[in-house]
Amino acid sequence: MTKQATTYVYSFTEGDGKNRQLLGGKGANLCEMTQIGLNVPPGYTITTEACLSYLENDSTYPDGLMQEVKEQMVALENVTGKGFGDAHNPLLVSVRSGSAMSMPGMMDTILNLGMNSDTLQGEIEQTGDERFAYDAYRRFIQLFGKVALGIEDEYFDEPFEAIKKREGVKEDVGLSTDNLKEIATLFLEIVHAQTGRSFPEDPYEQLDLAIKAVLGSWSGKRAVDYRREFNITPDQANGTAVNICTMVFGNRGDDCATGVAFTRNPGTGENMFYGEYLVNAQGEDVVAGIRTPKPIAQMADEMPDLYRQLEELRSKLEKHYSEIQDFEFTIEKGILYCLQTRNGKMNTQAMVRTSVELVAEGLISEEEALMRIAPESLEQMLFPRLDPDADATPLAAGLPASPGAACGHVVFDADRAVAQKNNNDRPLILLREETKPEDIHGFFVSEAILTSRGGKTSHAAVVARGMGKPCVAGADGIEVDVMARRAHIGDVVIKEGDVITLDGTTGNVYLGVVDTVEAEFSEELKTLLSWADERARLKVMANADVPEDAERALKYGAMGIGLCRTERMFNAAERLPIVLEMIVADTLEQRQSALDRLLPIQRQDFIELFTTMSPNAVTVRLLDPPIHEFLPSENQLIDDLVQLKHLKDTMRGSEVLSATLSLLSAQNGVLKPIQQLADSSLVDEAIEKKEAILKKVRALFEVNPMLGHRGVRLGITFPEIYAMQIRAVLEAACECQKKGIEVHPEIMIPQVCTAEELRNIKVHVEKIRKEVQQAQGMDPSFKFGTMMEVVRACLRAEQLATEAEFFSFGTNDLTQATFSFSREDAENKFLPMYSEVGILQNNPFEVLDANGVGKLMELAVNWGRSVKPGMKIGICGEHGGHPASISFCHKIGLSYVSCSGPRVPIARLAAAQAALLDS
Ligand code: PEP
Ligand code: MG
Repeated sequence: MTKQATTYVYSFTEGDGKNRQLLGGKGANLCEMTQIGLNVPPGYTITTEACLSYLENDSTYPDGLMQEVKEQMVALENVTGKGFGDAHNPLLVSVRSGSAMSMPGMMDTILNLGMNSDTLQGEIEQTGDERFAYDAYRRFIQLFGKVALGIEDEYFDEPFEAIKKREGVKEDVGLSTDNLKEIATLFLEIVHAQTGRSFPEDPYEQLDLAIKAVLGSWSGKRAVDYRREFNITPDQANGTAVNICTMVFGNRGDDCATGVAFTRNPGTGENMFYGEYLVNAQGEDVVAGIRTPKPIAQMADEMPDLYRQLEELRSKLEKHYSEIQDFEFTIEKGILYCLQTRNGKMNTQAMVRTSVELVAEGLISEEEALMRIAPESLEQMLFPRLDPDADATPLAAGLPASPGAACGHVVFDADRAVAQKNNNDRPLILLREETKPEDIHGFFVSEAILTSRGGKTSHAAVVARGMGKPCVAGADGIEVDVMARRAHIGDVVIKEGDVITLDGTTGNVYLGVVDTVEAEFSEELKTLLSWADERARLKVMANADVPEDAERALKYGAMGIGLCRTERMFNAAERLPIVLEMIVADTLEQRQSALDRLLPIQRQDFIELFTTMSPNAVTVRLLDPPIHEFLPSENQLIDDLVQLKHLKDTMRGSEVLSATLSLLSAQNGVLKPIQQLADSSLVDEAIEKKEAILKKVRALFEVNPMLGHRGVRLGITFPEIYAMQIRAVLEAACECQKKGIEVHPEIMIPQVCTAEELRNIKVHVEKIRKEVQQAQGMDPSFKFGTMMEVVRACLRAEQLATEAEFFSFGTNDLTQATFSFSREDAENKFLPMYSEVGILQNNPFEVLDANGVGKLMELAVNWGRSVKPGMKIGICGEHGGHPASISFCHKIGLSYVSCSGPRVPIARLAAAQAALLDS
């Protein structure tokens, strides 16, 4: 039957099951289920358009609505053989709201509508069960009173509980028929007292009031708050539908039941029927936990024929929806009804397993399997999580900076962390106000990092993510006192060695041990990701600085290293002194001598990285940060010098003591140690070193170091530093090639703003290449490219492309530069407010700003490729692991994304989804 545009009511047999906007999710589903031949109790849906019209017109129905409702009621009477208001064989209905989006907070439901003093008798006549009929009646009066007449629950609950108490019964089922009669009478009086009129007896009046209550609930406070909280916009859901459905009862005897089931196990994804049921009960009883439901498998013995029908229903639902279903059923007098079905919500493990199995069973395609999973959700499978059953209250909270959960003993500085790890191999959590590059050795030995300052792109966050270690950053409720080795959280004091647990996925911090569950990189996930790789156009590389990170990234499926931040290699405990020497050097000779000692170490780093990643590309970024970052802070040095000078004075005192003692007597036994202690030359040497470093720190001071002497600017002013690194890369490449290991190193220059900088560095590269070639008797194969992290670099992409073989967008710096936001300050100070008031939709350091930063990238890609068609161009900023940003990178034609190892699986899936959506 074709319907006019003004139709406001559709029966389940004719509504369009795909039109959730018009019929609401529940209504559309009821139509769909009916039309595929499932046994759904007959009914009809009033559209969301009717709701909007009602609300816009001062709570007045649109023309013809009630007429359509009446026609539908007559149709229901015809199919059920019952009469609405019939005193002998009454038709009872449920009335439920349901919008296009599920909004559990506002689901108003009225059951058993159509009951009055006459139809009550009809129910008794039909069922022969007076208790059942009175029970249904008192439930209806209360629900109707609440939803349609606005009477608070407590007006009903208090007298109800009083009667139960008087009768000495704990559960409702213990009430007798007489009790229920008394309650029904009492409830009718309450309605009269609260509304000033009798309970409406006319079923059509009941229906009218119920429909109005549901339509009006869309603009009620509860629903409005819910939509605001969950950002539900009108194009997602606009207005609620009203579903009117014939009542079926699971509580009319032992051939009745009600239950809830999943077509597969939602916790594991296993293909087994999963659910619970209760014989002779209402759905409400299952949900309220009044009686303990039985596992569905038991029904095979108790009601074998119905169980078989239920199995059929399960299979029909999955075949039709090609998705795991979560459904509700009722059995009335041996007849099975399906009341509702929806896509089952599962954890990620189950989503991945069912994706692969549904493909194997031919229910979905590989493409559908890939589109079914939110890439972000894979995180759940890649990191240990807090045990979902653990019952713990957080002590503090910060930003969820690097996912995963860990538990360990608190330690307040990196040196002590290493010492403790060596002494006593127990799990540690490094707790600092904020971390710096010189804390890196503390990261290596800790399970997780907690800071009280800094954002999601702070040093702690970026490094922890790279290492795949959990991190909570900026937990500003924690006051850290490093000197006293204590932290205060309100009244709680955490001392060194105390155990805490942190959850980098939520940002919560707990005192003591909270159980965790291990990550599982399952076979199904591997299969799914192999399908992803076949479809993705973007390659997924990893940001990895040391061989262990590279190995982990490989396990996650990285197709190479897109960013090796070489400065991280300089921070290892045995190297830092040589690096310091290199920085403090006053002459080129002194600096070169330190660099000569760093060369073999760095070469070995690269040999290991290239070997681990062979035959994939490894992009080595030459030194980037301002070199003062390797030095202690000025304050720290001043403090150290004060201590050393105190020590020197003390030593003078002990010299006097030693001389005095030798005059007084010949107690040689004590003299010796005192004399040894009195040897102050070591202290003098220490003071001299510290003073030299302090001088250097002052000389290197910059007002704005992140925009200062760093990256290629450093490489040009201290060419010997880059020369050592370039030589290390090329010699390592030759060494590997000699062993037959296929390597593809790429030398990448950071912070470039003009092609002239690249030409300057290239002169060194070329010279060293020739020297290496001569010495090794072979040509090292490599590529030379640039990072794009300065706005001018993007604008001069054509010129840069003449010198560079590849570009890699450093969107951390590029975002900072495009917005002129210092990322550390922005995240701590004004960005939260910017998101709150809607000035920025997202934190641009997390979600690539497609309109601004993205625009620059797109221009640079097009300009670069206009000079070098097909040029390799990627991204290695944090955004390279963010699904929406990856989709943008696909759109502008990048060749690869590079992200921290643990995000590689997420990026692989996101890259496949971007390609599938594009095709
Ligand atoms: C970047 O700026 O995006 C980048 C990868 O470099 P870093 O984060 O090391 O500054
Ligand atoms: Mg950068």
